Amino acid sequence: MANLGIPRNTIEVLQRHNFTFQKKYGQNFLIDPNVLERVIGAAEVSKEDCVLEIGPGIGTMTQLLAERAGKVFAVEIDRNLIPILEETLSPYSNVTLINEDILKLDIKELTGEWGGGRPVKVVANLPYYITTPIVMGLLESGSPLQSITVMVQKEVAERMQAGPGTKEYGALSLAVQYYAQPQVVANVPPNCFIPRPGVGSAVIRLTKYRTPPVEAADERKLFALIRAAFNQRRKTLANSLGNAPGLKVTREQVFRVLEEMGLPAMVRGEALTLEQFAALSNRL
Ligand code: SAM
Repeated sequence: MANLGIPRNTIEVLQRHNFTFQKKYGQNFLIDPNVLERVIGAAEVSKEDCVLEIGPGIGTMTQLLAERAGKVFAVEIDRNLIPILEETLSPYSNVTLINEDILKLDIKELTGEWGGGRPVKVVANLPYYITTPIVMGLLESGSPLQSITVMVQKEVAERMQAGPGTKEYGALSLAVQYYAQPQVVANVPPNCFIPRPGVGSAVIRLTKYRTPPVEAADERKLFALIRAAFNQRRKTLANSLGNAPGLKVTREQVFRVLEEMGLPAMVRGEALTLEQFAALSNRL
């Protein structure tokens, strides 16, 4: 089977099938063998593994995954890609192709079945327009996932990995870091894709925790607090939380808890660690 990671081979397949890229599906196909190796290397895929690939495109990464993993499940929304994938993946009996919208699937049920009780690894060059719903959907699904190694927009990778006090730090950083340890593995320039995306990209590996690193008595409350704290970044925490509809906390309550925690009354949400947010949520 021709190596699709080489631009000439990708172009040949696309032309032969008369394929036209659909911008609405975030289609930017990888055409760099070194980058493909970096992604799969960072995911540490072995024959023991069951892999979920989101958006296989024409099957470039899927072929490599099929060679290294035990089983691969590839979910692709664009039905125009299915005949191409049936051709490029025909040599591999361990790949199951699913023509679906990833956001509409019951990930917990499926990954439970696929892995036969063993954890599943997610490996993908994600469609950037739905990165956050995909990643948060995976993390919150309660699925038996071991890790998520994905290509995303560079700024999004930086936000996922950011710590307190930086401009990238926000609700996404805290939500991701509650479930997983993030590590940016590589930065990838636009010329590694066809067509070239208008933004820089990065590969990030999220290694899922068995249990969250902080104890939150009420997860929903913790995330509601975090969202409210970053809704208006420039406001103090007491003002953001005190004004948030639905939170049912007063500024005075926030002041009291901040004092108990030894934090300044005028502190902003962007200064608090995940641990401090959990403590705040438990005390309020
Ligand atoms: N994996 C291929 C590669 O690296 O060359 C393609 C990656 S491309 C950035 C994203 C892929 O996700 C496209 O094939 C696109 O059609 C698919 N996609 C977009 N939205 C999707 C969705 N909601 N569910 C499943 N696949 C989706």
